Order: sequence, then C-alpha cells, then structure tokens
Amino acid sequence: VAAGLTTIAAEFTWLAGRFERGVRLDVGADGRIARVTRSSEPPDRKLTGRALLPGFVNVHSHAFQRALRGRGELFPPAMGDFWSWREAMYRLVEELTAAELKAVCRLAFDEMLACGITTVGEFHYLHHDDPLRRDFAFDDVVLEAAAESGIRIAMLLSYYKTGGVGKPLAGGQRRFDTPDLAEYWRQFDRLARRLRPPLQTIGVAPHSMRAVPEADLRALCREAAARGLVVHIHVEEQRQEIEEVRAAYGTNPLRWMLDNLALDERFTIIHSTHTTPRDAAEFVAAGGRVCYCPLTEGNLGDGLAPHTPATVTTPGAVCVGTDSNVRLDFCEELRWLEFAQRLRLERRGALKTSDGRVAPLLLECGTRNGALALGLDGGEIAPGRPADFFTIDLNHVSLRGFAVENLLDVLLLGAGREAIDGACVNGVWRRG
Ligand SMILES: [Zn+2]
Repeated sequence: VAAGLTTIAAEFTWLAGRFERGVRLDVGADGRIARVTRSSEPPDRKLTGRALLPGFVNVHSHAFQRALRGRGELFPPAMGDFWSWREAMYRLVEELTAAELKAVCRLAFDEMLACGITTVGEFHYLHHDDPLRRDFAFDDVVLEAAAESGIRIAMLLSYYKTGGVGKPLAGGQRRFDTPDLAEYWRQFDRLARRLRPPLQTIGVAPHSMRAVPEADLRALCREAAARGLVVHIHVEEQRQEIEEVRAAYGTNPLRWMLDNLALDERFTIIHSTHTTPRDAAEFVAAGGRVCYCPLTEGNLGDGLAPHTPATVTTPGAVCVGTDSNVRLDFCEELRWLEFAQRLRLERRGALKTSDGRVAPLLLECGTRNGALALGLDGGEIAPGRPADFFTIDLNHVSLRGFAVENLLDVLLLGAGREAIDGACVNGVWRRG
C-alpha cells in the first residue's frame, strides 16, 4: 500500500449496483478513493459485520426548520394547511438568535450523519441576524455548524426579495432580504471566499417565483450560467403559489421558466408537486432535475406529484431532500418516494430499473443523482470519487435473517436509520 493511503474493507461493499464481498478501498490523503481492489491483506480499518454504501446525498434542507419538529401539529378548526405551518415557521424565524441557529443546525447536521447522509444541499434563506443592517451573519453560522459536524455541504444561497408576487417583505421575512442583485453577488463572492474546501461549495437559489421578480430571476440565471453554478428553486409546491404566479405571469411557474430561461442539467426544481406531466417531461428532456421531499410533503399536506414515466426513467433526473427535517431517515424518505406512488396508482413498482428492481433505483436517486444536482462528483463508490460512505450493522435486529441478495431491499423498504452505525465524509469517520 502506497504512503498516505488508508485501506478499508467491509464484509460487503455496494459496487456498481450490487453488494460485493472481499472488496478493499484505498483512500488517499485527499479524501478520495484511490483504488478499489480485492486484496486479502489486512486493511487499516476492518468493518466486521458491516456493509458499506455510498453516503446519502440530501439535496434539499432548511436545517433551522428542525426546531419546528413537533410544533405546528395542533389544528384548530379551519387551520392546518401549508400556510398555517408557514406562520409557525415565521414565528420561529423572528425569534432565532445566532447561537440558537448554530445549535439547531448542528443538531440537524449531526442527525443527518447519524442516518447516513454525508452531503447536504442547504437551501439557505435565513440570512440576517440584524435585518436592518442586512448583515448576512447567519450565512456564516450555517457554514460553521456544518464544519463542526463534518458534513459535506453545498450552500445554496437564496435570493429572496418579495413576500409574494409584487409584495414587500413583512415581519420575519425581512431576515431573508436580498434587496438587489449587486448585494446578492457581493455576499455570494464574500461567502465563496470563506468556504472550507473540499467539504463546502456554493450554488444559486432563487427562492421561488413568489419571492423573486421576473427581471431578477432572468439575471440571476444568466450569471449562474456564466459562472457554471447549479440553480435550485422551489417550483409548484402549492396550488395557491401556482394561482399567484398565473395571475401575474399568465402561466404556471415551470411553464414560464421553460419559455423564458435557458434550463439545463444545472437546474433542480424542488417539490414540483402540481406540475403538469407535459411540463415535467419537457423540463427533464432539457436535462433538468426534480427534487422530491416525500416526508415533508406528507407532513405539510402539499399533495402528491404524479411521477411521469419521463422523470422516473431519465437517468439523473430524480433526487430527494429532507426539506423541513420534520423526520430524518433517508431510507424512509426514499421508500416514500415509491410508496406514495403505490398508494396513488394502486400498483407497485412505480420507480424501477429496467430489470424491474425498486431499491437500486431509489439508492441512485438518494446518492448519485443528488450529487449531480448539487454539482458534485460523488455519490458512488468508485475510483476517483470522494470517500463518502455509511455503514450498516448486519447484526442489527432489523437486518438479521436475510440473504445479501435482498439486503438493499430490506434496508430501504423494510428497515431504516436504526441499522446505520457509521458515516465517513471525505475519508474521515464521523460516527461509528
Ligand atoms: Zn424548501
């Protein structure tokens, strides 16, 4: 073994679509997988009774919303839709101090690592400690919390200007304020210089068509394209949002984007719950990606996105996020991507590979597709990729008694985070 390499061997390793026995990974000092071999030499780290999988990539999170878990679950008459939840979120937003934000982000990121998420796309719009000075102090707080946790983070820096189409920001929303493009890009560049490579990267996140005026959205996307940055935007999560955009633009949000922006593989739309099949197919054909957040969408009662054959079968098109972090279990998140469609269609196997398997496709959505959506090169165990993994305990009661051929199906459809006992980010073990 060459100097500077660390060798890892688990009982089983997920390689190119299946679990293989006797695999050794050589990880370089740069945190990347240097080689995948079959050596029987004792490794530096022997993972007995463990299987090794690529770390989950959580494409869409608002870490601070973890503090809302268990809140906003009281439903007086005529209350309890998305918009009443949003009021609860705004109350939290008004109160949060920098120290509280740091603490909740740490908890969110630590809990993500505990359930095998090694990369998070943090869609960050809660910018200001002092909204009058527009200090963007909270941007640094999130990056600090991520660095302390050791999670890989793609900071998706949000542009947020209006509190609804053409409406001024009000109350807690003033903490989100990016008043113009010049100030946004100034902060973007400042933050880009403060990132801690290789674990921290940055992308562009116009919040939604409700929160970003037309001219600003066009200009943001042009600049993002010139810089080769990924662009993430909430699209068609709520019917009321679609109505609001239709009233102002004469058409649905995604339809307008398709007709007016140069959409390609750098674009990820979040939720897309009420998107028409035609618009979804056109977006995916242009290379665009769709990020579903099944547990949050379920908790908020957003509705159920009809997965079109085009989105499901296009390689790299579907990825997953934990959004409000009301529940952190990425296995569960992935299984509900499929289960929700089973309930809707009264049929099984809505998302499946060409040979009819569900679990490997779900894993692909939760790893490689997510990395692509965040503009990262990870998401699989292969030479040259970052050494981002998680381990499962094969002796955990939820995994005992099954053949290895079914192990991924058992984990993703029948078990969950309780069987996950270790996470490694860029070659550094964070847990287990
Ligand atoms: Zn969101």
